[in-house]
Amino acid sequence: MRHIVFLSGAGISAESGISTFRDAGGLWDTYNVMDVCSAEAFRRNRQFVLEFYNKRRRELADKTPNAAHRMVADIQREFPDRVLNITQNIDDLFEKAGCEGTIHLHGELTKARCEVCGNIWDIGYADLVGTELCPRCGASRVRHHVVMFNEQAPEYMRLYESLDELHANRGMLVVIGTSGLVLPVEEFARYASYSVLNNLEPQAAIDDRVFSVRLYEKAGTAAPKIAELARRFLDSDQRGPRDGRAETAS
Ligand code: NAD
Repeated sequence: MRHIVFLSGAGISAESGISTFRDAGGLWDTYNVMDVCSAEAFRRNRQFVLEFYNKRRRELADKTPNAAHRMVADIQREFPDRVLNITQNIDDLFEKAGCEGTIHLHGELTKARCEVCGNIWDIGYADLVGTELCPRCGASRVRHHVVMFNEQAPEYMRLYESLDELHANRGMLVVIGTSGLVLPVEEFARYASYSVLNNLEPQAAIDDRVFSVRLYEKAGTAAPKIAELARRFLDSDQRGPRDGRAETAS
């Protein structure tokens, strides 16, 4: 069965009012990210880092999904078991949009993790103040469930498995709202038989020629176009096997 992998970054949530890291007006304009989002920073000043993520979590409470999150949820609903959603984002907008089984490569703001036993649990939009106890083992080493710089990202294993599957099934990859500085998305596109890239503008880190379709516009306006391409790709199964790449629309 053909299938689709959606892979998103901070840009997909920008229209919902969540700052990206690197765009003008993004979080890096306000913070030196290595001071707050790294394993070293956390060792140096645990309280400061917990508070940084408390602020991000509080900001998330009233944010709502936009047309791009809803589009992924719609395609998932229309084609059960054929659409995998993977995101670098730590927000909960895919869940709010109704997406199922989203893989959060860099963790989730609305969860806490025990550093001792590895237990992960929902905390919603509550602050972590550093005195919490793990509900499973009782240890007091409770932290945000977010992968910071220089930390391991165990969910990457599932990303690489999904790319292998994409290759084996001649699937489609849709990349939305990522600068390609953290993940080599152009390499990933080579695993797919058909691929779509949506960003605001071309990115220095992405050789976009490997993508079948390039959409340089807001994810909200690209969403109906991506939905159309995804439906056509998945529907082509019913019409029998198809060779080669679909036509480009960029
Ligand atoms: P990035 O900030 O490096 O790049 C943002 C990308 O999104 C750019 O390519 C830009 O062109 C594009 N973009 C901006 N607005 C857009 C829009 N309206 N529509 C479509 N594209 C748009 O983001 P990154 O590549 O995801 O890397 C940053 C890291 O920080 C990731 O790990 C990410 O998860 C994390 N982060 C997450 C959030 C979140 O959870 N919402 C927010 C900030 C950063």
